[in-house]
Amino acid sequence: MLRRSGEPLVFGEAFVNDLRDEANEAFAHFTDRLNGNTMFITKHTLGSLFDCEAHYLAPDEFEWTPARAKGQVSHRAIQLLINWRGEPVPSDLVDDAVARLINEERGLGMWLESIGPADEADLRAQACDLVTKFMECFPPLDPRSRPVTESSTQWPVDGPILLRGRSDLTIGRPVGRESRKLIVDLKSGRVVARHREDLRFYALVETLSRQVPPRLLASFYLDAAQAVTEDVTEGLLRSALRRTLDGINALIELQVEDRPATKSPGASCRWCPLASTCAEGQAYLSADDDPNR
Ligand code: SF4
Repeated sequence: MLRRSGEPLVFGEAFVNDLRDEANEAFAHFTDRLNGNTMFITKHTLGSLFDCEAHYLAPDEFEWTPARAKGQVSHRAIQLLINWRGEPVPSDLVDDAVARLINEERGLGMWLESIGPADEADLRAQACDLVTKFMECFPPLDPRSRPVTESSTQWPVDGPILLRGRSDLTIGRPVGRESRKLIVDLKSGRVVARHREDLRFYALVETLSRQVPPRLLASFYLDAAQAVTEDVTEGLLRSALRRTLDGINALIELQVEDRPATKSPGASCRWCPLASTCAEGQAYLSADDDPNR
């Protein structure tokens, strides 16, 4: 399902140049409206903004828990796995991943250093589960297929607005203008539409920076051991650029030009810090809990 088949996929140079020109032109207009501010746009920025603007702007009350940390710990363990010589076991990989994250002294590392034995055991169990599932789903990856984990992409190289992606796993590389790269996001939960938008954003940043689009995008659901894939097309890349530019425009309106934020009730009301005082959120949550609905 993830392997290449059929005719080689080659996007026209004119199409890629046109996409970059459109992005450059829009960024120039946005820069005029920024009043010296800067913006760092990721898939999380766009996903959260389009979920609900009011929630996006609310103070961040994020706290680490084993359930929230399992993704980053397991991804770091998988990063070690891809480059490990021999046959590592998941628990060793997770222990090494935790030790390395602690050494990095970022927010997650500081939390990992402070947790008690019960949270540590809980986290290890959940992360080992994901790493084990990954090992079951993916055979050892041939180094010749250029597997890379946590690979960062950015466009442009510098400026007040930067687009930045960081994919869980990429396999393959372009050969000349032929698109051969597969971008994979590993998921531990259920399928949601936002996952597809996240990968389209990665494909856009890859295209703008490398000038050769990837060939295929895959959200790989570890619990179900199944990938949901999408071919990269000109239409997909144009739509991803449109969504990204719409997001940047909305951010400038909200953060520089003082437009009031809209409220969009939905699944994110469940973890929104504004939920207790938000009429729209309360109405959504009541209806969602109604067994007769
Ligand atoms: S409760 Fe829901 S609608 Fe209200 S601000 Fe939060 S996410 Fe938006």
